[in-house]
Amino acid sequence: MDLIIVESPTKAKTLVKFLDKTYRIEATMGHIRDLPKSELGVDIEHDFKPHYVTPRDKTRRVNELVDIARQANRIILATDPDREGEAIGWHIANILFTKLGASRSKKPSKSKTKKTAADYDRIVFHEITGSAIRDALKNPRRIDMPLVDAQQARRVLDRLVGYKLSPLLWQKLSRRWLSAGRVQSVVVRLVVEREREIAAFKRKKYYSLTGEFATASAGSQKLLTAELVSKDGQKYAVKDTITLFDGTYTTTATTIDTATGAQSIKDDFKEPFTVSSVDKKEIVKNPQPPFTTSTLQQEAARRFYFSAKKTMQVAQRLYEEGIITYHRTDSVNLSDKFIREARDYIQKTYSDKFLPKSPRIYTTKSKVAQEAHEAIRPTTTTLLSADLENKSGYNRDHVRLYDLIWKRALASQAQSAVFDSTTVVIDDASGYRFETQGSIIKFEGYLKITGRDVNEVVIPDVATGDRLLCRNVDITEHFTNPPPRYSEAALVKTLEEKDIGRPSTYAPIISTIQERNYVEREEKKFKPTQLGNVVTDFLVDHFAQIISLPFTATIENSLDKIAKGEKKWVPVIADFYSSFAQKLEHTYKTADRIKMAAEETGQTCPQCGSPLLIRIGRYGKFIACSTFPKCNYTRQFVETVSDVHCPRCGGNIIIKKSKRGKSFYGCSNYPKCTFAAWKKEDIK
Ligand SMILES: [Zn+2]
Ligand SMILES: [Zn+2]
Repeated sequence: MDLIIVESPTKAKTLVKFLDKTYRIEATMGHIRDLPKSELGVDIEHDFKPHYVTPRDKTRRVNELVDIARQANRIILATDPDREGEAIGWHIANILFTKLGASRSKKPSKSKTKKTAADYDRIVFHEITGSAIRDALKNPRRIDMPLVDAQQARRVLDRLVGYKLSPLLWQKLSRRWLSAGRVQSVVVRLVVEREREIAAFKRKKYYSLTGEFATASAGSQKLLTAELVSKDGQKYAVKDTITLFDGTYTTTATTIDTATGAQSIKDDFKEPFTVSSVDKKEIVKNPQPPFTTSTLQQEAARRFYFSAKKTMQVAQRLYEEGIITYHRTDSVNLSDKFIREARDYIQKTYSDKFLPKSPRIYTTKSKVAQEAHEAIRPTTTTLLSADLENKSGYNRDHVRLYDLIWKRALASQAQSAVFDSTTVVIDDASGYRFETQGSIIKFEGYLKITGRDVNEVVIPDVATGDRLLCRNVDITEHFTNPPPRYSEAALVKTLEEKDIGRPSTYAPIISTIQERNYVEREEKKFKPTQLGNVVTDFLVDHFAQIISLPFTATIENSLDKIAKGEKKWVPVIADFYSSFAQKLEHTYKTADRIKMAAEETGQTCPQCGSPLLIRIGRYGKFIACSTFPKCNYTRQFVETVSDVHCPRCGGNIIIKKSKRGKSFYGCSNYPKCTFAAWKKEDIK
């Protein structure tokens, strides 16, 4: 019997389908070796040697695996195809090697060099399909130690920062449950900085003028709306670019900044209004590349409001069931086999017109060459999302996400869409120029697959020289908008652009900063909590480098170099730690304790009559007496939504948390009134 070891039981179940009885497949059921929870677990004096332990609840499973492995001729590690997977495989190998020795590794026993745990067979596949697994079994390799080391380095770095920085926060901010993290704190800072940029933004008032024109040709009276763009060649539009913490932000306004100015322009228009040019051209729109982890998370957030975490959970299932490729990837590459299959499908289903002459090749500047993955795609084009609906074990979310992945991958190999774009320029007699643009689909191309998620603007047929009648001019007041708060999609995009974290880390980081109460959501966008502000300010004051974007990116790149075998992991950590430890010591000695200001409630304590305050605890906001510890009155913090009332009883609407931690709107008269709604729009 050959023993194949994977992480999860679902993955094991799928593998069983493709292999004969000579193979036995077992799952570790999670991490079977890791740094201990209760202590640092890193020997700083001795090259940062990690002290790994088997979590107590995993010892039984480990013993079972050892017993099974004892009977195996060969042990094959088939954990996921990335650094985490490589490291898990290596941990398994280490445990088995300690218990069983090298007898089941692939190296012949006559070999002179000493055997190590890395000599067990390791196989890698990016999709759980029969052909991929058979290929992998034909090409086993050793454990890739550079990949393992890159993962160890990340784990150790994060452990050092987390376990060393958090106690400092406990002392200086007097809260024994605070936490800091190497990447986590930088991401909180993004949200904190953005909120301040929004507050500092000066909204600029400006006006636009829109003319409604009628064409008198052939008796028909059609309306054409066009925007005032210039006077005597002088454009009204002005752009303003400001520098933000994470890049630049550009707003567009006009030079018309008063209502009277707009009115005097309007009064100045002079007939006749003549069409001075009609510019028609074809615009070709190419399909987007197939999904990576980051683009999938962004699109699922945009379409379905999935959190990054949820997208990963749903995708994990699809991967483990063998119907999509591995979902942690930064690659847009597609296998030749899939491209052939996709082209065949497009030709047969939609005809030759929809098939480009040659396959579309997408190239990634993959940061992790050794982990050269594929994009996220279906493992076969023939399984449609409609088929999935009828299969047991898949819910609506699985179907929706699969549908998104299927369409994007297929469309990426389809013909471009072609739009007919028309720009009409209208001039009046005193030098004012209006412009309007129309765009209609001429050939739908890949949109046939993805759906027509585009705005078509049809404008009436006019010709150069046509005289138009100006029916009306609208003056509209606008304000420039501050940079927006981060949505989940925008945050993932920024993390990828700024090189913060990797495909496997976006989702965990984003959920951690919410669980720790550093950021919260309002209308699906992130804003910092007071706690997030205070902790970020403290870290920026004392650890400016660690909490900067470029430094975090540098570390990430060093980890990539370790993965490629271009750097050793210990010096990378030693280098980081020496300056970090110095700053830490200095801050312990010099930084003042910070008092976190509590919010006033305007209410008084029912026990002693003193003012009540809103405080932040480990589990979020709560209300407490201002004279604590003299008076220990506390109660739950209830956020009242001011602009709506209960449609059933007229009571206040408050924000509550479900058992699973999801926020919803409920009536304050519960349990007398049981009104509840997930969305604010539904309160009616
Ligand atoms: Zn009190
Ligand atoms: Zn009610």
